[in-house]
Amino acid sequence: MKVRLGEYYTGWAQNDALKEAGKEAVKERAMEILEENRAQLASAQELLWASNIYSVLIILQGMDTAGKDGTIKHVMSGVNPQGCKVHSFRVPTDEELDHTFLWRYWRALPNRGEIGIFNRSYYEDVLVVKVHPERLVNLPPGKRGKKFWNARYEDINAFERHLIRNGTVILKFYLHISEDEQKKRLLDRLEDAEKLWKFSLSDLEERKFWGTYQEAYEDALTMTSTEEAPWYIIPADHKWVARTLIADIITTRIQSLDLAYPTVSGEAIAQLKDARRQLEEE
Ligand code: ADP
Repeated sequence: MKVRLGEYYTGWAQNDALKEAGKEAVKERAMEILEENRAQLASAQELLWASNIYSVLIILQGMDTAGKDGTIKHVMSGVNPQGCKVHSFRVPTDEELDHTFLWRYWRALPNRGEIGIFNRSYYEDVLVVKVHPERLVNLPPGKRGKKFWNARYEDINAFERHLIRNGTVILKFYLHISEDEQKKRLLDRLEDAEKLWKFSLSDLEERKFWGTYQEAYEDALTMTSTEEAPWYIIPADHKWVARTLIADIITTRIQSLDLAYPTVSGEAIAQLKDARRQLEEE
C-alpha cells in the first residue's frame, strides 16, 4: 500500500487516550520510559557484543532539522562507545562517486556485535538525488524515469536482504516533522547564538522543495518497507516523542533476539580453576 505522509501524525496526541491524559502527563511518562530504555539498551548492547552473532544497523532519515543528531545523542547516551559507531553521510566525494552508490555505506557497516548508526544513508540516493537528478553523475546513459528509481529500490531491498540473512538487524526510522515545525526550528537557529552554527543557507534552499521531498519519501517508504526491515514513521514535532519511541523500538528489537552470554564448557572451567590455583600458590 502506498504510504501517504499526510495521513501520519507529527505531533504527540495520536489517539484519544493520549489526548485525555494531556500533554504534560504524556511527556512525563515518556521521559520515564526513555530513561528505562536507556538503561536496558546499555545492557542489551553488552549482550549483543558478548554473544557476537548479530549486528544492528540503525538508519535515521528525515528532513533537515528533523532531529537526527539529537536523537543519536539522547538515545545512545548510556551505550558503551566501544560497541557503537555513528556515521554521518554528506555529499559524496569524487572517490565515492567513482563507485556504485552502495559502496560507501557498505564500508561503514557495523561489525558483528556492534550497533551502527547511519545519520543519513543510502536512502539519500533515492531522496535528495531523486529531487535533484542532476546529481546523478558517472553513470551509463539512459532515462532517469520510474524504471531507473525502481531499480534502485530493488538494489536497496536486495542489499538489506543480504545483510539480514547474515545477521544484521536493520531498524529504519523516518523522523516525520511538519513543514511548520521545520520553519520554527530554522527560525530558532537564527535567533539563538548557540544554534546559529547549525543554520545553513542550503537548508532554506532545500525547504523550497518540501513537496518533492515528501513525494520522494513516500515512494521510498512504500518501495523499501519489507517484512524483515520495515520503516518506522516517527512523529517528530516533539523531540521527546521521537526519542522515546525510537529508544523503545531499538531496545525491544535487540531484546527479542533472545541473546545469552557465552557459556563456559566443563573443560574450560577446570582450566580456570587450575589458573586460580597457580596464582594462589605463587
Ligand atoms: P546534516 O544536514 O545531516 O546535519 P550536512 O549539513 O553536512 O549534515 O548535510 C549533508 C548534506 O549531504 C545534505 O544536504 C544531504 O542531502 C547531502 N547528501 C547526503 N548523502 C547524499 C548523497 N548520497 N548524494 C547527494 N547528497 C547527499
